[in-house]
Amino acid sequence: MVLASLVAIAAMTTWMSWRTEQILLASYRQQVVMVADRFAEDVRYYNAIMPADEALHRVIDHRTTGDLGMWVTTAQGDLLAQSETLNMGSWQTSGVAADLLRIELDEGVEIRPIQAWLFVICVEPLRIAGLPNAILHIANDITAEYQGLQQLIQMLWLTGLGMVTLLAAACAVYIRRTLRPIRRLNHLASQVTAETLNDHQLNLRAAPTEVQELARSYNLMLARLAQAWAQQKRFANDISHELRTPLSLVQGYLESTLRRGSNLTPPQRQGLEVAAVETNRTVHLLTELLDLARIDNGQLALKLEPVDLKEVVKEAIAMAEGDHLPTADAASRIVLDAQSPAPMVKADRPKLRSVLVELIDNALRYSPPPQPVQVKLLTRQGWAMVQVHDQGPGIPVECQDAVFDPFYRVDESRSRSTGGSGLGLTLVRSMVEAMAGQVSLRSQPGQGCVFTISLPI
Ligand code: ADP
Repeated sequence: MVLASLVAIAAMTTWMSWRTEQILLASYRQQVVMVADRFAEDVRYYNAIMPADEALHRVIDHRTTGDLGMWVTTAQGDLLAQSETLNMGSWQTSGVAADLLRIELDEGVEIRPIQAWLFVICVEPLRIAGLPNAILHIANDITAEYQGLQQLIQMLWLTGLGMVTLLAAACAVYIRRTLRPIRRLNHLASQVTAETLNDHQLNLRAAPTEVQELARSYNLMLARLAQAWAQQKRFANDISHELRTPLSLVQGYLESTLRRGSNLTPPQRQGLEVAAVETNRTVHLLTELLDLARIDNGQLALKLEPVDLKEVVKEAIAMAEGDHLPTADAASRIVLDAQSPAPMVKADRPKLRSVLVELIDNALRYSPPPQPVQVKLLTRQGWAMVQVHDQGPGIPVECQDAVFDPFYRVDESRSRSTGGSGLGLTLVRSMVEAMAGQVSLRSQPGQGCVFTISLPI
């Protein structure tokens, strides 16, 4: 816009300057030609009452003004008469009069710069009875007028440039003000997460109507999303709860039937055992779902207390070993590497234990025996950390964020065979974050995983 205005104003100013100069010069030419035309008539008029050369001097004196120089020569260039202006003032001292008389001038009207002066010069033949063939020269000094015009043009340019600068500044301020709310909107939109949908409403007071409409639509969209998100969480919570209660009953019934059913045939026992395992797994999944929904809804009551991390780690190892004893020699695979004294952290003891069990359990499940699983306890800059190392297949870098998402599995077939729900790591992250901690994962495919839980000491 600034460039376009600059070009437009430059073109207009150039055209106006050129046009004004043309008009001014044309009017000076005309003036000089008029004086030249009158001159011959006046000489003839005076010639009627006095000799021709005297009439010539009289008319020159009469017609001359401060800016006008006149002189008459013969065709051979001999001077017959000249005006007083050529002999006085700056005309003489600057030598411009001498230059005028010396230079060759063609017949007609021309604009000619001499030294720092500018003249409109008219040369015309003068035919008067009693005079030899003479030539009239008239030089009109238009230096001051021309300089005045140049100053005017300069002012025109400066005014134009000033206007463009002002316009550009005004536009910049306006555009900046218009864009400010959009920048805020962009900033808010980039920060919004499912949990903070209600905290990122945009309130605009002074903004153009279109931007206000955009902000209104954005706020409405956030409200609808928040509503949908709340509904989804409520749904997950309700359905897990509604399904878990009857399934727990079924689970209890199956287990007691299996315990007491001495008259069951082998196929019946086998069928009931499969049903019990599946029910068990589904109840476990529903419990995890319910926990997750409660954390999301802020309904999970955490009992934060000072906890000896080493003790909790030992308990978790014992529980994980218990879970895996029937299938592998888990006890001999888990190696604890704990420094002493053990750090104290503020945490919910049972939840922290279940988080650690989940990580150790994953490490045992995803790394084939007899690969060791190392559990390391360390402190660093105000944080207590528990690291669970395994020598399993590892997790590709591009999946490392996603493994913390619900129901995400790196390898479907591998996970099905290991029997995981896909919710374990999601719960781990949610619970650790609810205890003001962090979970991170470092892994290279083929070189195992290192899951680290950090809690403030
Ligand atoms: P799951 O119940 O399927 O184990 P998790 O949330 O615990 O669900 O883990 C998500 C996915 O992350 C798993 O399906 C698995 O692909 C991958 N994973 C988790 N722990 C490990 C590990 N120690 N080694 C390799 N892959 C792992």
